[in-house]
Amino acid sequence: MKMNGALLRVLPAVMLIFAMLAGVAGCAAKNPNEHKAEIFAMDTYITLTAYGDDRAQEGLDAAVSRIREIEERMSISIEGSDVDLINRNGALGPVKVHEDTLYVIKKGLSYGELTEGAFDISIYPLVRLWDITGENPRVPEGDEIHKALELVDYRRVRVDEEAGTVFLEKEGMMIDLGGIAKGYAGDEAVRILKEFGVEHALVNLGGNILTVGGKPDGSDWHIGLQNPRAEDGGARHFAIIDVRDSSVVTSGDYERYMVDIYKETGVRYHHIFNPRTGYPAESGLISTTIVSESAIDADALSTSLFIMGKEKGLPFIGQLGFQAVCVTDEKTVHSTEALQNNIRITHPDYKLDNSLP
Ligand code: ADP
Ligand code: MG
Repeated sequence: MKMNGALLRVLPAVMLIFAMLAGVAGCAAKNPNEHKAEIFAMDTYITLTAYGDDRAQEGLDAAVSRIREIEERMSISIEGSDVDLINRNGALGPVKVHEDTLYVIKKGLSYGELTEGAFDISIYPLVRLWDITGENPRVPEGDEIHKALELVDYRRVRVDEEAGTVFLEKEGMMIDLGGIAKGYAGDEAVRILKEFGVEHALVNLGGNILTVGGKPDGSDWHIGLQNPRAEDGGARHFAIIDVRDSSVVTSGDYERYMVDIYKETGVRYHHIFNPRTGYPAESGLISTTIVSESAIDADALSTSLFIMGKEKGLPFIGQLGFQAVCVTDEKTVHSTEALQNNIRITHPDYKLDNSLP
């Protein structure tokens, strides 16, 4: 959730998102009941579309304020945010934070447990070292990575629920909610829209989609899954799935990576790290999508699946009761069972493979 310098890298993704929205929302701009808000927050472009009367517009405004409030609490780059205070002072003693932040941290830590450390909110020393989305991205030396890894361990982030505090057990530890906070913000936006009586809405947080109800005409939302290798040509999506009242959250190696090195060497150093190796995760996957009622779970799990890989990750996610789609570097598409009949491949380079567990 860094604000500086990321804009240029994010722009191509933004074009995709707008194209995608046009694709899923149709040309509803002519619909007098359609209300729209477009903002840049949490280091990404966010579009909220709600259908209804004036209250829907009020709901949008309230949802936007709530997203900004969450950003102010959880951004790593906003001075004085809860995360900033934890990272500055959390090893000196317990830091009091807002209950929103405490909730997201607790959720993040529980996914640390569930994924046996694949998802780790204490990843920031590594994120900062590589600086993939920052001003000075570089491939660090082995001993630097080793040193950073000594500071990454979610079990050493201590939450005191009663006191509402967070304590980091080791000097130099730092947390990063970039893999989970956008999901929480999406859930909160949807909760507020519903509070304002909205029955049909689509929220797009940088490609993470949340839907309220179905489309205004009562049919399902058709959500395009972004083609992770759009540079190879063809359509912007590789598949479409139909959903209602669900979030569809995607992680991939194509959104934020070191473009210069990739052009020179073909190696893609991206922003999702394997806390075991200290390197960008190499699980053979290039894109992972979770479909779930709650976006906070989907966000944490899309990042986790990307690190865990399909053999381990897909059954794991199925057992938790969530649905997932993943794409391998050979452009084969795998999913949990319940989604298999819902995925329509729309790009000729991609093939569905239902043979997996
Ligand atoms: P995006 O934020 O681009 O939609 P993700 O939800 O997959 O993508 O989150 C990636 C972000 O999560 C990284 O930019 C970093 O802040 C953080 N992150 C990277 N590796 C991990 C990890 N192993 N566990 C938890 N968070 C991570
Ligand atoms: Mg995530």
